[in-house]
Amino acid sequence: MSTLEIRDLQVSVKLPDGELKPILNGVDLTVKAGETHAIMGPNGSGKSTLAYSIAGHPKYEITGGSVTLDGVDVLELSVDERARAGLFLAMQYPVEVPGVSVANFLRTAKTAIDGEAPKLRTWAGELRGAMEKLEMDPSFAQRNVNEGFSGGEKKRHEIMQLELLKPKVAILDETDSGLDIDALRIVSEGVNRVRATGQTGFLLITHYTRILRYIKPDFVHVFVGGKIVEEGGPELGERLEAEGYDKYKVRA
Ligand code: ADP
Ligand code: MG
Ligand code: MG
Repeated sequence: MSTLEIRDLQVSVKLPDGELKPILNGVDLTVKAGETHAIMGPNGSGKSTLAYSIAGHPKYEITGGSVTLDGVDVLELSVDERARAGLFLAMQYPVEVPGVSVANFLRTAKTAIDGEAPKLRTWAGELRGAMEKLEMDPSFAQRNVNEGFSGGEKKRHEIMQLELLKPKVAILDETDSGLDIDALRIVSEGVNRVRATGQTGFLLITHYTRILRYIKPDFVHVFVGGKIVEEGGPELGERLEAEGYDKYKVRA
């Protein structure tokens, strides 16, 4: 059973003039395989900073605390090593990859993570199956990664990665934003399929409660001012939907 442990994480963003601006003020969170955690908070509260810090984005400086995956110090690993260790970050590949098809990209990623290339015959089937489940045209596999992708195609591509790479912990930042209702359903069903395997822990980061109608979290954490200010079960998400974040803003 895999466990991601975030302890008293403190992070600053590096400003262009070299100054550090503190954003995360001591985040504590434990995500185990099979669990789905929602992090919900207002814009600017530091949710993406948390995701990028775990991903290893160079813009962020860790000033305190720790992040471990099954006891391994994640913060000491390169971005590639983090992926190989089983961390999946949905915003990790937002850039276009000219000349690299979706099929080749996924096979390369799978090879890197498993340490050996997947067998061609079974891999082709897996790829086709993942695309069918996401209601994607087979020609999508031959397109270049993110080149001219619509919002919905980008998200489907993320969920394909999730289904094929089978990470230990998946962090999805604002996966629901920019999705129409059909795309939201398809993406949510994909997450729920991977979730049902019990092998992956999910951190769903969102500003909206919308996606939580399709993916029922086990735990909800309210994130304000760079830290978690309240925790609960799915009922907390429902309360946020009704009440918004106003009551936390006065405290923050
Ligand atoms: P969220 O994802 O919750 O909307 P972010 O993590 O994107 O929040 O941002 C948290 C805070 O960090 C915001 O106040 C934002 O203005 C600030 N921030 C992020 N990047 C920079 C930057 N390059 N320069 C200055 N402030 C930044
Ligand atoms: Mg934001
Ligand atoms: Mg954000």
